[in-house]
Parts: sequence; structure tokens; C-alpha cells
Amino acid sequence: MDMLDSIECVSSSDGLEEEETLAHLPRHPYPKSVGSVAGNVGVGGGGNGTGAGAIAGGPMLPPATSVHELLECPVCTNSMYPPIHQCQNGHTLCSTCKSRVHNRCPTCRQELGDIRCLALEKVAESLELPCKYYTLGCPEIFPYYSKLKHESQCNFRPYNCPYAGSECSIIGDIPFLVTHLRDDHKVDMHSGCTFNHRYVKSNPREVENATWMLTVFHCFGQYFCLHFEAFQLGNAPVYMAFLRFMGDENEARNYTYSLEVGANGRKMVWEGTPRSIRDSHRKVRDSHDGLIIQRNMALFFSGGDRKELKLRVTGRIWKEQPNPDGGVCIPNLCS
Ligand SMILES: [Zn+2]
Ligand SMILES: [Zn+2]
Ligand SMILES: [Zn+2]
Ligand SMILES: [Zn+2]
Repeated sequence: MDMLDSIECVSSSDGLEEEETLAHLPRHPYPKSVGSVAGNVGVGGGGNGTGAGAIAGGPMLPPATSVHELLECPVCTNSMYPPIHQCQNGHTLCSTCKSRVHNRCPTCRQELGDIRCLALEKVAESLELPCKYYTLGCPEIFPYYSKLKHESQCNFRPYNCPYAGSECSIIGDIPFLVTHLRDDHKVDMHSGCTFNHRYVKSNPREVENATWMLTVFHCFGQYFCLHFEAFQLGNAPVYMAFLRFMGDENEARNYTYSLEVGANGRKMVWEGTPRSIRDSHRKVRDSHDGLIIQRNMALFFSGGDRKELKLRVTGRIWKEQPNPDGGVCIPNLCS
């Protein structure tokens, strides 16, 4: 899939990290029903999963009570939020479904009209409901409207697959995505907080948008995505390397990384904070938040006859402000 010819890991582990290897990672099957979110998102599209798609009902809902059943849209089975609509015969449906059914009640086929079901709306507003990511570990319970707001920010909401170069729709928690990257995208996995990679491309003049490479690093009990790619910046092709943290932004800030590339007595160094994979790969790239190497310099660093790109990128990840308590406080977990 990627267009780089090869990646060579000259040496990667500094031997100081914990021994845990990927093979020992607990498999963490992600609830299947979460995959069905996709069908309900997309109206008004483009979101990063912020609040748009309600997880389908049924097994994802807490033990059903009759009130919860009443509030389940009979068409899409999502929870109904005000405005809740009904037909002349009293069949209810959610506002998303109402906008899709061309003014016909999906239950009795009668004309739908514009009738609100105020009683059910009041019931809905009076309920306190668990965050829809409760099966992923979120313990929070909210009244209706703050629930929606919380869910768009919830630390337990699933992450999008961080793989670049294709529109992968897989979502899940970090252990699930690490397994997914390794098994489905055949991404290279490395343990250790230092790296030393050689990126080789035989025809560096062909720079296309989709030239990229991803490697995953495991250190400090966390996972990091090292991206290397070539793209067109204005008229000039450039190469860029940057790190993303597989976790939320507040945790990403605990880490710093450096990248170095050079040869023949010249060297470029980048130091930065890894970005959370909540920020899309493209967003990070477009903000130029990483080591950017102009093509001329890249070819100079490659040595030889400038026909082949051979960049050696070394780097290191370290933890800022070691926390004496060990462990980083995640608001939802520490309350
Ligand atoms: Zn519906
Ligand atoms: Zn009806
Ligand atoms: Zn939550
Ligand atoms: Zn993927």
C-alpha cells in the first residue's frame, strides 16, 4: 500500500523498557455493536465521532426498563432525544428518522404531519442516563442534555484507526487498535523509547500524496505512532516525520520526543510534543507539527548520486515531569 520501498530498523530498543511485548497483550475484543455506529453517523458528516452517532440500542443499553424501551426509536433503535415526534396514531420516532421518512409514519404508513410527543419529551428530560460509552468503562451518569455534551468529550469514546493513507473506518480502544494496526495494516511494532530508522525510496522525484510510512512504538506502557511521509508543500516536495500519541491529548502532553536527521556534517533536529491520535493524521501534517525536510536537503542527506532517497531518522521519546505517584490522572478515572 505505501509507496516507500523499505523501512529498515537499524536498532530500536534501548533495552530499558519493560519486557512486555505485543504477544503478551491481552486481546481486547471490542463490542461488535459499536461498529454499527457508522450507519447512523454521517448526516452532516465529517465529524470525528463527536456526539453524532448514537450507539445502537439493544445490547448496548443498560438493563432495559420500560421507560428506556419507550424512549427507543422504533425505527433506528437509538435513544430518542427531544424533539420526539409522533404520527396521528401515536407512533413515535426520533427527529433523525423523521427527516428521512418522507412524511410517512414508518409504523402505520399514515401521513406523519408535525406532531411533537411532549409527554415523552418530558420523560426523556427527567431521566438520568449512563454515558453511551459505559460498556467501554465510563462510569458517568447524566441528565439528558449534559449527557450529549459529555459524550462528545468522553475519555472512553473510541478512537479512530490512526493508520494513514486509506480511509479506515475501524474504531476502538487503544489495545484493540494496536492489534488492528499490527494484524490488518501490517504495521511494524517496536518496543523501546529510542528509534533509528532508515527510509529508502528509489525514485525520490515521484512524490505523491500517499507516500507515507507508519511505525508503532511501545514505551512507558503507552503506544506512539511515528509517521514518515512525503508530500507536496506548495511546488516543492518535502518529507515530514512526526509522532502521535495513542491516547488523549491531556496524556500526550506528558511526553516529549525528538527527531534527528542528517549526514555529512549537517543535521536537523526536531523536538516536540506528540499529538493525540484524536487529531487526524492529516490535521497534524497540515499544521506542519513535526520535522520537515526539504527535498534538496533530503537528497543531500541521502548522499550518493541523488537518485535514491536514504534518510536515517533517529529519535527518542521521554516523559516530562516524572510523576511521583506514578500514573497520570485522567479526570474520569480519578473522580
Ligand atoms: Zn430513529
Ligand atoms: Zn403511525
Ligand atoms: Zn463517558
Ligand atoms: Zn485501520
